[in-house]
Amino acid sequence: MAVDLHVHSNVSDGVYSPRELVLMAKAKGLKAFALTDHDSVQGVPSALSAGDEVGVYVIPGVELSTDIEDAEVHILGFYIDMSSTCLHEVLATLKERRRERTAKILHHLKALGIDIPLDYVLTLGKEGFTGRSQIFKAMVNLGFARPEKRYGDFEKYLGKKGLAYVEHHGLSPKEAVRFIRDSGGAPVLAHPGTHIPHGFIDELIDFGLEGIEAYHPTHSNETTRKWLEFAKSRNLIVTGGSDFHGGNPADAPGLGSLPVPDSTVICLTQRWLEIQAV
Ligand code: AMP
Ligand code: FE
Ligand code: FE
Ligand code: ZN
Repeated sequence: MAVDLHVHSNVSDGVYSPRELVLMAKAKGLKAFALTDHDSVQGVPSALSAGDEVGVYVIPGVELSTDIEDAEVHILGFYIDMSSTCLHEVLATLKERRRERTAKILHHLKALGIDIPLDYVLTLGKEGFTGRSQIFKAMVNLGFARPEKRYGDFEKYLGKKGLAYVEHHGLSPKEAVRFIRDSGGAPVLAHPGTHIPHGFIDELIDFGLEGIEAYHPTHSNETTRKWLEFAKSRNLIVTGGSDFHGGNPADAPGLGSLPVPDSTVICLTQRWLEIQAV
Protein backbone atom coordinates (compact mmCIF):
# COMPACT_ATOMS: atom_id res chain seq x y z
CA MET A 1 0.00 0.00 0.00
CA ALA A 2 1.17 3.50 -0.70
CA VAL A 3 0.04 7.11 -0.72
CA ASP A 4 0.73 10.03 -3.06
CA LEU A 5 0.10 13.59 -1.89
CA HIS A 6 1.08 15.53 -5.01
CA VAL A 7 -0.74 14.83 -8.28
CA HIS A 8 -1.79 17.01 -11.24
CA SER A 9 -4.77 16.45 -13.55
CA ASN A 10 -5.76 17.90 -16.91
CA VAL A 11 -7.57 20.67 -15.03
CA SER A 12 -4.13 22.31 -14.81
CA ASP A 13 -1.19 20.83 -16.72
CA GLY A 14 -1.54 17.09 -16.19
CA VAL A 15 -2.54 14.60 -18.88
CA TYR A 16 -5.25 12.55 -17.13
CA SER A 17 -8.65 13.65 -15.86
CA PRO A 18 -9.27 13.59 -12.09
CA ARG A 19 -11.48 10.53 -12.50
CA GLU A 20 -8.85 8.70 -14.56
CA LEU A 21 -6.28 9.43 -11.84
CA VAL A 22 -8.52 7.91 -9.18
CA LEU A 23 -8.97 4.77 -11.29
CA MET A 24 -5.20 4.60 -11.85
CA ALA A 25 -4.61 5.05 -8.11
CA LYS A 26 -7.05 2.20 -7.42
CA ALA A 27 -5.35 -0.06 -9.97
CA LYS A 28 -1.96 0.66 -8.36
CA GLY A 29 -3.34 -0.16 -4.92
CA LEU A 30 -2.91 3.35 -3.51
CA LYS A 31 -4.67 3.95 -0.23
CA ALA A 32 -4.86 7.71 -0.53
CA PHE A 33 -3.92 10.49 -2.87
CA ALA A 34 -4.23 14.26 -2.97
CA LEU A 35 -5.21 16.11 -6.14
CA THR A 36 -3.02 19.23 -6.18
CA ASP A 37 -3.59 21.10 -9.43
CA HIS A 38 -1.79 24.40 -10.04
CA ASP A 39 -3.97 27.32 -8.82
CA SER A 40 -7.19 25.34 -9.38
CA VAL A 41 -9.60 23.12 -7.44
CA GLN A 42 -11.88 22.50 -10.40
CA GLY A 43 -10.99 18.80 -10.49
CA VAL A 44 -11.68 18.15 -6.82
CA PRO A 45 -15.44 17.33 -6.97
CA SER A 46 -15.04 14.65 -9.65
CA ALA A 47 -11.98 13.18 -7.89
CA LEU A 48 -13.90 12.99 -4.61
CA SER A 49 -16.90 11.27 -6.18
CA ALA A 50 -14.73 8.80 -8.09
CA GLY A 51 -12.81 8.12 -4.87
CA ASP A 52 -16.07 7.35 -3.05
CA GLU A 53 -17.15 5.09 -5.88
CA VAL A 54 -14.04 2.92 -6.04
CA GLY A 55 -12.73 3.22 -2.49
CA VAL A 56 -9.69 5.50 -2.73
CA TYR A 57 -9.28 8.17 -0.04
CA VAL A 58 -9.01 11.46 -1.97
CA ILE A 59 -7.74 14.58 -0.24
CA PRO A 60 -8.84 17.86 -1.83
CA GLY A 61 -5.78 19.97 -2.55
CA VAL A 62 -4.19 22.73 -4.58
CA GLU A 63 -0.66 23.92 -5.42
CA LEU A 64 -0.17 27.70 -5.52
CA SER A 65 2.70 29.19 -7.55
CA THR A 66 4.60 32.12 -6.06
CA ASP A 67 8.03 33.70 -6.54
CA ILE A 68 10.82 35.08 -4.40
CA GLU A 69 13.89 36.72 -5.84
CA ASP A 70 16.02 33.65 -6.50
CA ALA A 71 13.51 30.84 -6.55
CA GLU A 72 10.00 29.74 -7.25
CA VAL A 73 8.05 28.87 -4.13
CA HIS A 74 5.10 26.50 -4.41
CA ILE A 75 2.62 26.20 -1.57
CA LEU A 76 0.44 23.10 -1.32
CA GLY A 77 -2.93 23.37 0.40
CA PHE A 78 -4.57 20.20 1.72
CA TYR A 79 -8.19 19.79 2.84
CA ILE A 80 -9.24 23.14 1.45
CA ASP A 81 -12.92 23.88 2.07
CA MET A 82 -14.65 23.69 -1.31
CA SER A 83 -17.60 25.74 0.00
CA SER A 84 -15.40 28.76 0.82
CA THR A 85 -16.48 31.68 -1.41
CA CYS A 86 -13.13 33.42 -0.87
CA LEU A 87 -11.41 30.32 -2.29
CA HIS A 88 -13.25 30.48 -5.60
CA GLU A 89 -12.90 34.27 -5.89
CA VAL A 90 -9.14 34.20 -5.39
CA LEU A 91 -8.66 31.25 -7.76
CA ALA A 92 -10.71 33.05 -10.44
CA THR A 93 -8.35 36.03 -10.07
CA LEU A 94 -5.31 33.73 -10.33
CA LYS A 95 -6.70 32.24 -13.54
CA GLU A 96 -6.95 35.74 -15.02
CA ARG A 97 -3.44 36.61 -13.83
CA ARG A 98 -2.10 33.44 -15.47
CA ARG A 99 -3.58 34.61 -18.75
CA GLU A 100 -1.93 38.04 -18.40
CA ARG A 101 1.39 36.39 -17.54
CA THR A 102 1.16 34.09 -20.57
CA ALA A 103 0.56 37.15 -22.79
CA LYS A 104 3.69 38.79 -21.35
CA ILE A 105 5.81 35.67 -21.85
CA LEU A 106 4.61 35.43 -25.46
CA HIS A 107 5.55 39.07 -25.92
CA HIS A 108 9.12 38.33 -24.75
CA LEU A 109 9.27 35.25 -26.98
CA LYS A 110 8.15 37.33 -29.96
CA ALA A 111 11.08 39.70 -29.38
CA LEU A 112 13.30 36.60 -29.62
CA GLY A 113 11.77 35.67 -32.96
CA ILE A 114 9.36 33.09 -31.55
CA ASP A 115 5.92 34.15 -32.63
CA ILE A 116 3.09 32.22 -30.99
CA PRO A 117 -0.53 33.46 -30.90
CA LEU A 118 -2.11 33.69 -27.44
CA ASP A 119 -5.32 32.15 -28.79
CA TYR A 120 -3.41 29.04 -29.80
CA VAL A 121 -1.82 28.63 -26.36
CA LEU A 122 -5.25 29.04 -24.74
CA THR A 123 -6.60 26.09 -26.73
CA LEU A 124 -3.98 23.82 -25.12
CA GLY A 125 -5.28 24.14 -21.54
CA LYS A 126 -8.63 22.97 -20.25
CA GLU A 127 -11.14 25.83 -20.10
CA GLY A 128 -8.48 28.46 -20.66
CA PHE A 129 -6.05 27.28 -17.97
CA THR A 130 -2.67 28.53 -19.07
CA GLY A 131 0.95 28.52 -17.96
CA ARG A 132 4.45 27.60 -19.03
CA SER A 133 3.44 24.01 -19.65
CA GLN A 134 0.98 25.08 -22.38
CA ILE A 135 3.43 27.70 -23.74
CA PHE A 136 6.15 25.07 -24.02
CA LYS A 137 3.76 22.65 -25.69
CA ALA A 138 2.94 25.37 -28.25
CA MET A 139 6.67 26.02 -28.82
CA VAL A 140 7.24 22.32 -29.42
CA ASN A 141 4.20 21.92 -31.69
CA LEU A 142 5.27 24.90 -33.81
CA GLY A 143 8.88 23.74 -34.07
CA PHE A 144 10.49 26.33 -31.77
CA ALA A 145 11.64 23.89 -29.07
CA ARG A 146 12.53 20.26 -28.53
CA PRO A 147 10.58 18.52 -25.78
CA GLU A 148 13.38 16.32 -24.42
CA LYS A 149 14.78 17.63 -21.13
CA ARG A 150 18.35 16.99 -22.26
CA TYR A 151 18.18 19.86 -24.75
CA GLY A 152 17.24 22.32 -21.99
CA ASP A 153 14.89 24.37 -24.18
CA PHE A 154 12.33 24.82 -21.37
CA GLU A 155 14.99 26.19 -18.99
CA LYS A 156 16.54 28.35 -21.72
CA TYR A 157 13.32 30.22 -22.46
CA LEU A 158 10.88 29.58 -19.62
CA GLY A 159 12.98 28.65 -16.57
CA LYS A 160 13.31 31.08 -13.65
CA LYS A 161 16.51 32.44 -15.24
CA GLY A 162 15.20 31.92 -18.78
CA LEU A 163 15.10 34.51 -21.58
CA ALA A 164 11.33 34.99 -21.51
CA TYR A 165 10.61 34.30 -17.83
CA VAL A 166 7.94 36.38 -16.14
CA GLU A 167 7.15 36.01 -12.44
CA HIS A 168 3.76 34.71 -11.36
CA HIS A 169 1.51 37.71 -10.82
CA GLY A 170 -0.52 36.00 -8.16
CA LEU A 171 0.07 35.81 -4.45
CA SER A 172 3.27 36.24 -2.46
CA PRO A 173 4.38 33.13 -0.52
CA LYS A 174 3.03 34.62 2.74
CA GLU A 175 -0.29 35.53 1.12
CA ALA A 176 -0.54 32.00 -0.30
CA VAL A 177 -0.03 30.45 3.15
CA ARG A 178 -2.60 32.81 4.69
CA PHE A 179 -5.04 32.15 1.87
CA ILE A 180 -4.87 28.36 2.38
CA ARG A 181 -5.46 28.85 6.10
CA ASP A 182 -8.40 31.20 5.40
CA SER A 183 -9.81 28.52 3.04
CA GLY A 184 -9.78 25.98 5.86
CA GLY A 185 -6.73 24.08 4.60
CA ALA A 186 -3.32 23.03 5.84
CA PRO A 187 -0.50 24.86 3.99
CA VAL A 188 2.66 22.91 3.17
CA LEU A 189 5.83 24.15 1.44
CA ALA A 190 6.21 22.10 -1.77
CA HIS A 191 9.55 20.60 -2.90
CA PRO A 192 11.87 23.10 -1.15
CA GLY A 193 14.91 21.54 -2.83
CA THR A 194 18.18 23.14 -1.83
CA HIS A 195 17.48 26.82 -2.51
CA ILE A 196 14.95 27.93 0.09
CA PRO A 197 16.55 29.58 3.15
CA HIS A 198 15.50 28.33 6.59
CA GLY A 199 14.91 31.90 7.79
CA PHE A 200 12.37 32.41 5.03
CA ILE A 201 10.53 29.22 6.02
CA ASP A 202 10.46 30.42 9.64
CA GLU A 203 8.69 33.56 8.42
CA LEU A 204 6.13 31.40 6.59
CA ILE A 205 5.59 29.43 9.81
CA ASP A 206 4.63 32.72 11.50
CA PHE A 207 1.98 33.12 8.79
CA GLY A 208 0.55 29.64 9.39
CA LEU A 209 2.68 27.17 7.42
CA GLU A 210 2.11 23.66 8.82
CA GLY A 211 4.36 21.37 6.82
CA ILE A 212 7.19 20.59 4.42
CA GLU A 213 7.07 18.31 1.38
CA ALA A 214 10.21 16.31 2.19
CA TYR A 215 9.56 13.46 -0.27
CA HIS A 216 9.68 14.66 -3.89
CA PRO A 217 11.27 13.23 -7.06
CA THR A 218 13.62 16.25 -7.28
CA HIS A 219 15.02 15.58 -3.78
CA SER A 220 18.07 13.38 -3.25
CA ASN A 221 17.98 11.05 -0.22
CA GLU A 222 20.22 13.55 1.53
CA THR A 223 17.89 16.47 0.76
CA THR A 224 14.89 14.48 2.00
CA ARG A 225 16.75 13.60 5.20
CA LYS A 226 17.62 17.27 5.81
CA TRP A 227 14.01 18.36 5.42
CA LEU A 228 12.77 15.56 7.68
CA GLU A 229 15.16 16.87 10.35
CA PHE A 230 14.15 20.46 9.72
CA ALA A 231 10.45 19.55 10.01
CA LYS A 232 11.11 17.81 13.32
CA SER A 233 12.98 20.83 14.68
CA ARG A 234 10.02 23.14 13.85
CA ASN A 235 7.18 20.72 14.70
CA LEU A 236 6.04 20.75 11.07
CA ILE A 237 4.24 17.84 9.45
CA VAL A 238 5.87 16.08 6.50
CA THR A 239 4.24 15.23 3.17
CA GLY A 240 5.39 13.81 -0.13
CA GLY A 241 4.30 12.82 -3.58
CA SER A 242 5.31 12.03 -7.12
CA ASP A 243 4.21 15.38 -8.67
CA PHE A 244 2.77 13.14 -11.37
CA HIS A 245 1.65 15.01 -14.50
CA GLY A 246 1.33 12.04 -16.84
CA GLY A 247 3.23 12.26 -20.06
CA ASN A 248 6.64 10.82 -20.74
CA PRO A 249 7.36 8.08 -18.20
CA ALA A 250 11.10 8.49 -18.81
CA ASP A 251 10.96 12.06 -17.48
CA ALA A 252 9.14 11.53 -14.22
CA PRO A 253 8.19 8.81 -11.78
CA GLY A 254 4.72 7.36 -12.03
CA LEU A 255 1.68 7.89 -9.85
CA GLY A 256 2.32 6.50 -6.37
CA SER A 257 5.88 5.49 -7.23
CA LEU A 258 7.63 7.45 -4.49
CA PRO A 259 8.03 5.68 -1.12
CA VAL A 260 5.95 8.13 0.91
CA PRO A 261 5.06 6.71 4.35
CA ASP A 262 1.34 6.09 4.95
CA SER A 263 1.78 7.87 8.29
CA THR A 264 2.07 11.21 6.44
CA VAL A 265 -1.65 11.03 5.66
CA ILE A 266 -2.53 10.34 9.29
CA CYS A 267 -0.31 13.19 10.56
CA LEU A 268 -1.66 15.58 7.92
CA THR A 269 -5.26 14.73 8.76
CA GLN A 270 -4.61 15.09 12.50
CA ARG A 271 -2.94 18.47 12.01
CA TRP A 272 -5.79 19.68 9.82
CA LEU A 273 -8.31 18.67 12.48
CA GLU A 274 -6.25 20.50 15.10
CA ILE A 275 -6.12 23.72 13.10
CA GLN A 276 -9.85 23.45 12.42
CA ALA A 277 -10.50 23.26 16.15
CA VAL A 278 -8.75 26.54 17.07
P1 AMP B 1 3.72 27.59 -14.38
O1 AMP B 1 2.61 26.93 -13.62
O2 AMP B 1 3.27 28.46 -15.48
O3 AMP B 1 4.71 28.26 -13.47
O4 AMP B 1 4.52 26.40 -15.11
C1 AMP B 1 5.18 25.41 -14.37
C2 AMP B 1 4.95 24.05 -15.01
O5 AMP B 1 5.75 23.92 -16.15
C3 AMP B 1 5.38 22.90 -14.11
O6 AMP B 1 4.41 22.58 -13.17
C4 AMP B 1 5.54 21.80 -15.13
O7 AMP B 1 4.28 21.23 -15.45
C5 AMP B 1 6.05 22.54 -16.36
N1 AMP B 1 7.51 22.37 -16.47
C6 AMP B 1 8.46 22.72 -15.59
N2 AMP B 1 9.69 22.39 -16.04
C7 AMP B 1 9.51 21.79 -17.24
C8 AMP B 1 10.39 21.22 -18.22
N3 AMP B 1 11.71 21.23 -18.06
N4 AMP B 1 9.82 20.69 -19.34
C9 AMP B 1 8.50 20.72 -19.51
N5 AMP B 1 7.62 21.23 -18.65
C10 AMP B 1 8.11 21.76 -17.52
FE1 FE C 1 2.93 21.47 -13.55
FE1 FE D 1 5.50 22.48 -7.83
ZN1 ZN E 1 3.26 20.05 -8.71
